[in-house]
Amino acid sequence: MDNLGYGGNTACVEVRSRSGCLAILDGGTGIRSLGQALAGEFSGQKLSLHLFLTHYHWDHIQGIPFFLPLYRPDNNLTFYAAAELGPVGERLAGQLSRPYFPVSLDVAAPRTFVEIDRPEVKVGDLTVRPFPTNHPQGAYGFRVEADGHVLVYAPDLEHGHPHLDKVVREFAEGADLLIYDSQYTPEEYEKHRGWGHSTWFEGTGVARDAGVRQLMLFHHDPWHNDQFLVELGRSARSRFENTLVATEGWYADISDPHWRASPAGAGI
Ligand SMILES: [Zn+2]
Ligand SMILES: [Zn+2]
Repeated sequence: MDNLGYGGNTACVEVRSRSGCLAILDGGTGIRSLGQALAGEFSGQKLSLHLFLTHYHWDHIQGIPFFLPLYRPDNNLTFYAAAELGPVGERLAGQLSRPYFPVSLDVAAPRTFVEIDRPEVKVGDLTVRPFPTNHPQGAYGFRVEADGHVLVYAPDLEHGHPHLDKVVREFAEGADLLIYDSQYTPEEYEKHRGWGHSTWFEGTGVARDAGVRQLMLFHHDPWHNDQFLVELGRSARSRFENTLVATEGWYADISDPHWRASPAGAGI
């Protein structure tokens, strides 16, 4: 295994405000371990969870059937996605039914599905603002604000679309942390035009243009091992110093003014 340093799960990010409001961005395979952690932390308590999906490609929903809080009838789960992407419940129903999944969800936690058709959604003191990205079949990013701090999550997008390139810069403006699709190197990208992903090089450009504090390279290509990602981070830092390489299980308090990126990401 040559990816144990940065991890091999697919997209899932947890965001919490100071008051404890919690949002989950995407339900990739990483949500399985998040579910275990939440079940431990809130053992015996009812959970009201809010899951925001950028789109329905497999790598962003694959972990949902294995998310422990889904199987506690006392919990409440609300799934959100942009209305333009279609009915959320219908989109998710397929993966939790025969012949793809063995367990009936009759005893699962009640689920609510929300198609976002307005500029922002409030979850307690978290404000989530979706923005469209350039990606096959459509996708969205999220700007999440709380306590005067900003996290921007843009996991799947291809640069080069004149309008949407502007949109991501507008929504990333002044972010404390920008999580950006950096699947390819600029050289690899040339062979993958139209696949819907961007590069670390473009990520550093967006980070500079939008004046973000920290950039996180995200959505690693499965072909890139730990050593490759170390090099990729090094290249990106030569253009934008405050660059992190996303690492599984890593967390930061972005409201802490002294928080700084560790150069190679946590755990490496
Ligand atoms: Zn995708
Ligand atoms: Zn993806």
